Amino acid sequence: MRPRILVIEDNAQNMYLVRYLLEMNGCEVAGAEDGPTGIALASGMSPDVILLDIQIPVMDGYAVAKALRANPALDAVPIVAVTSYAMAGDRERILAAGADDYIEKPIDPARFPSQVLAHVPRSSGGMKEDAR
Ligand code: MN
Repeated sequence: MRPRILVIEDNAQNMYLVRYLLEMNGCEVAGAEDGPTGIALASGMSPDVILLDIQIPVMDGYAVAKALRANPALDAVPIVAVTSYAMAGDRERILAAGADDYIEKPIDPARFPSQVLAHVPRSSGGMKEDAR
């Protein structure tokens, strides 16, 4: 199976780069430019991982992570925050809001695909040990 990744990101250049790197590595990628659109897409596609920018319109990434975690259909989907918002405390804050991991921008193109696939079970085409 191909890993299915939902990317919630409002910057078109970042979206293009992330989509390119993930598709090059065999992923199916769906994109949303704001939180409510991303949450609606997530409900329909049940992604293997959600990549979440923090600075996005309408709802910020913290609110999106909390909303995903409050949704019983989505609360087990790994959320990886991807953001340049690198002030002290932000990592703790997005993890407290429900994210599982954090990747800082600018992303490293050589490492990025494996940083994402580390959260996808092998049975879905990723690198994470399947739960037994
Ligand atoms: Mn942004």
